[in-house]
Amino acid sequence: MQLYELTIHELHAKLKTGEVSSVEATRSILDRIDAVEDKVHAFITITPEEAMQNAAAADKRIAAGEMDILTGIPVALKDIFLTSGIRTTSASRILGNFIPPYDATVVAKLRERGIVLIGKLNQDEFAMGSSTESSYFGVTRNPWNADHIPGGSSGGSAACIAARQATTTLGTDTGGSIRQPAAHCGCVGLKPTYGRVSRYGVIAYASSLDQVGPITRDVTDCAIMLGAIAGHDPKDSTSVELPVPDYTQTLANGVKGLRIGLPREYFIEGLDPEVKKAMDEAIATYKGLGAEFVEISLPHTDYAVATYYLIATAEASSNLARYDGVRFGYRNSDAKGLLDMYMLSRDEGFGAEVKRRIMIGTYALSSGYYDAYYLKAQKVRTLIMEDFTRAFGKVDLILTPVTPTPAFRIGEKTSDPLQMYLSDIFTIPVNLAGTCGMSIPAGFSSEGLPIGLQLIGSPFGEETLLRAAYAFEQNTLWHKRKAKI
Ligand code: GLN
Repeated sequence: MQLYELTIHELHAKLKTGEVSSVEATRSILDRIDAVEDKVHAFITITPEEAMQNAAAADKRIAAGEMDILTGIPVALKDIFLTSGIRTTSASRILGNFIPPYDATVVAKLRERGIVLIGKLNQDEFAMGSSTESSYFGVTRNPWNADHIPGGSSGGSAACIAARQATTTLGTDTGGSIRQPAAHCGCVGLKPTYGRVSRYGVIAYASSLDQVGPITRDVTDCAIMLGAIAGHDPKDSTSVELPVPDYTQTLANGVKGLRIGLPREYFIEGLDPEVKKAMDEAIATYKGLGAEFVEISLPHTDYAVATYYLIATAEASSNLARYDGVRFGYRNSDAKGLLDMYMLSRDEGFGAEVKRRIMIGTYALSSGYYDAYYLKAQKVRTLIMEDFTRAFGKVDLILTPVTPTPAFRIGEKTSDPLQMYLSDIFTIPVNLAGTCGMSIPAGFSSEGLPIGLQLIGSPFGEETLLRAAYAFEQNTLWHKRKAKI
């Protein structure tokens, strides 16, 4: 095995004994990026100098015996996380020259532990999309098949793990942006419960839905990363004051006696037969491990996509009002007056999908339409939340596909936004309900594209989620397959 292929826990074991230095591991990752980045385009910014400095500092720390599980580990981050002194764009032209003066809380937490920052990863512009095709910085390709999308919006994060260009990554998930790309690239991805992780310094898309989470090579790495980023942050009032368990401690507790719900509304007609087959096999695996299955209903599932696209766009229209060319970001330099400057800067700075969403959101919030759209959507959101509360009265976990089909082709849905929006049908309800969900590798299509299994946990039930994911991983080999790139 090459150093760039190792998981966090495997590399940590080698760093600890001194068999390998962080400088060597980092060099291996940077060489790997050089070798494959042309084919994948996972990165917006690569930071080799910063990385080598971080690695040398980590090696000093290791030599001094001040090591932690993340010390010396090469990490790449979605370009939505503010990184002090390193350009952060959210894949938009409007932030194309923005260099933040501070780190997001999750970045600061990782840096304190001594990680090595490799670079910033591609995504859909402002995290609006399911395919990483809306980035101002170009399309990221799926390492399993370059004609296909890697998923989105955290497509760079998932592609970079599948192409082995970083040991681990972080993404964000507003309607599926961690779980869907993880599924399409054969990685592990976890969207924590709303409030579990601080969003301070994370460029906001839809503030009542956004959460930060890991995209990793395996479940153990996912547990390590969640433990590192979770917890209350005085700088984010939506983060919750609950203790952070050591998620790695309970991984091996098994699933015997666990009750898993299968929601009728997720096993529907349009489900790709190969995805359905992977789900059936996963259910059989879990049964063999002693889990019990119960059919459940989440009756308001049909309304989730419409509800999401009203709430998310309304919040986005408000969050994106700050990009006006005045204090930071792109500014049109030929404008004749203030209004002209605002209009031209925003017109030239935002891409088509972002503009579409600002317009939908502004419309939904405007007087006369607010009650009919936004308020109504909030009420339906409550019904969707109640569906989950009722379900978790009966079961410990819910099992579903992550997506109705494996990764679609690049360009397949760009001219039909509604088709793109509908592809998130299985991930969006989890964000509306505010609970946690995870994607784990569960098979491959006949074309060789990965298929993901979604596990949904009750609020703050990440330990159960990870434990069930680990049991599956220990009894399957899907996570061991590697994209040939
Ligand atoms: N695809 C969904 C959207 O476009 C979700 C994106 C996300 O989770 N950031 O809004």
